[in-house]
Formats: sequence, C-alpha cells, structure tokens
Amino acid sequence: MLNSYTETSLHYDPDRCINCGRCTQVCPHAVFEHGPDRVELAHPAACMECGACALNCPVKAIIVQSGVGCAWAMIRAALRGKDMDSECSCGGDDDTCCG
Ligand code: SF4
Ligand code: SF4
Repeated sequence: MLNSYTETSLHYDPDRCINCGRCTQVCPHAVFEHGPDRVELAHPAACMECGACALNCPVKAIIVQSGVGCAWAMIRAALRGKDMDSECSCGGDDDTCCG
C-alpha cells in the first residue's frame, strides 16, 4: 500500500454514508474499505486527492480538495497506451470525475 501522503484534505463523514460502495469502486488506492454498515477510511495516507470518491458519493459524505480528477487513471492510461475510458471506473457521467 502506497503511503506517501502524510497530510491530505480528505474528510469523510461516516454518519452520512449509505454504504453504496461507489468510493471503494473508484478509488485507485483502496483508501476506503467495505464495512457492515458503512465504508471505513482504512488507508487515508494513501489518498492522492484525485477527487473521484467525493465526485461519486451520492450523499456528499466525502470532501477532498482536488484539481486533477482521475490522475491515476490518466497515468495508467498513458503508460498502457489506452483510452482514459478503459482505465477509470467512475462511469463518465456529467457529475463524475470524467464528465
Ligand atoms: S481522493 Fe482519490 S485517492 Fe483519495 S480517497 Fe478519494 S478516490 Fe481515493
Ligand atoms: S460513496 Fe459515499 S455513500 Fe457511498 S459508500 Fe462511499 S462514502 Fe458511503
């Protein structure tokens, strides 16, 4: 697990979480893990502030300051010579990181 970020702007409010699991699907660093009633902030130091989780959370339980969108997806796509759509799991709707 990459733990390069000792201080990030990531803020998670578990009281708002409805356990939809979207943040676990879009996070490139597995910062969130499934829990019985809500997700858990398992690896906060691995967050690279891409913003995908906050953009995809339907109840605004996550706040993070971001400016680069799915940076990890873009990097992986560039390294593999693939399109961004094939690397990001956010769905690409208007209100997601790839919208
Ligand atoms: S901002 Fe990006 S890296 Fe950080 S927890 Fe959210 S999806 Fe994961
Ligand atoms: S996307 Fe939001 S509501 Fe869904 S599991 Fe993550 S924190 Fe909870």
